[in-house]
Amino acid sequence: MNEQMYDVIILGRGPAGIQAAIHAARRKVSVLVLGKLRKSSAFGAHIENYCCVDGDAGADLLKGGYEKALSAGVEFVEEDVTALTEEDGVFTVAPEGGRTVTGRAVILAMGISRKKLDLKRETEFVGRGVSYCTDCDAGFYRGQTVAVIGCESAAVSSALTMLLYAKGVHLVCEALDVADELAEKMKRSEIILHTGRRVTEIIGNDAVKGMVLDDGSRIDLTGIFIVLGAKGAVDLAAELGVALDAETMKYIATNKKQETNIAGIYAAGDICGPPWQVAKAVGEGCVAGLEAAAYAKRKKDS
Ligand SMILES: Cc1cc2nc3c(=O)[nH]c(=O)nc-3n(C[C@H](O)[C@H](O)[C@H](O)COP(=O)(O)OP(=O)(O)OC[C@H]3O[C@@H](n4cnc5c(N)ncnc54)[C@H](O)[C@@H]3O)c2cc1C
Repeated sequence: MNEQMYDVIILGRGPAGIQAAIHAARRKVSVLVLGKLRKSSAFGAHIENYCCVDGDAGADLLKGGYEKALSAGVEFVEEDVTALTEEDGVFTVAPEGGRTVTGRAVILAMGISRKKLDLKRETEFVGRGVSYCTDCDAGFYRGQTVAVIGCESAAVSSALTMLLYAKGVHLVCEALDVADELAEKMKRSEIILHTGRRVTEIIGNDAVKGMVLDDGSRIDLTGIFIVLGAKGAVDLAAELGVALDAETMKYIATNKKQETNIAGIYAAGDICGPPWQVAKAVGEGCVAGLEAAAYAKRKKDS
């Protein structure tokens, strides 16, 4: 990492951060990316629905992006950031390693972590029956029986989506919390609703075979979609006064240029809210990279 001031510093090396880096660097500004490859949601994922690449391994997609960014002149440091401050329009970023680095513009692309049920075998079954994303994995469950766990509109919408693929869809929810219109739509559908219930156990050997509810009933199925929302990585940004979206207060609010409420700070990808998809992350990354590069050039020239 150089001592120089970077034009653009990007926090996050997932699809949003890498695409932002490529577009910014091609505008001939200096770009530093901080963040960890293996902490990208895409790293262990099979990306079935993203156009334009051969194969579906998220790790390959990230590797390809990394190589393109390197050849465009981007610098990478494999460290997460612990503090972000601003003084007189200059941003100071503190990576874990203990040094600090300054930049004219910053792009926040730190992704999200999905809320878990925290059941004993949940993590073991990810990719083998447990999923957090119907948009990503619905196609794997054609003609099968699945459950969606969650109470909010995202869970009900996911259950409705799964009706297009699965032969049976259960929705398990302690207390449903959706708008009347969506609740009506669900009632008219073939979703099998278990309200006031919790999942207590996931059953299976190599893959999911069923689940047990807190009333002791067992449901045989092959897919469990956990749609409980996200834990945002927004704390760093919030400390600086970056505004969150007013509706959820979980994601960073941006306009169509991926600008936040603070001049020089941009955001892209999952951290800006659903849909949590590579295609959206890459699109927003492209815009954020171009806009941040233009901003940094204006600052340098002023
Ligand atoms: C199991 C699974 C399957 C999926 N399948 C699909 C699919 O089929 N299709 C699809 O389109 N999408 C899929 N997704 C979603 C997709 O992976 C995400 O939408 C995408 O990776 C979001 O990109 P991002 O760059 O916003 O965030 P991420 O890829 O999550 O990257 C976040 C980056 O931020 C860094 N970071 C975090 N905190 C800090 C910090 N403090 N400082 C610096 N850096 C930080 C991390 O180290 C990481 O590098 C799937 C996700 C999962 C988990």
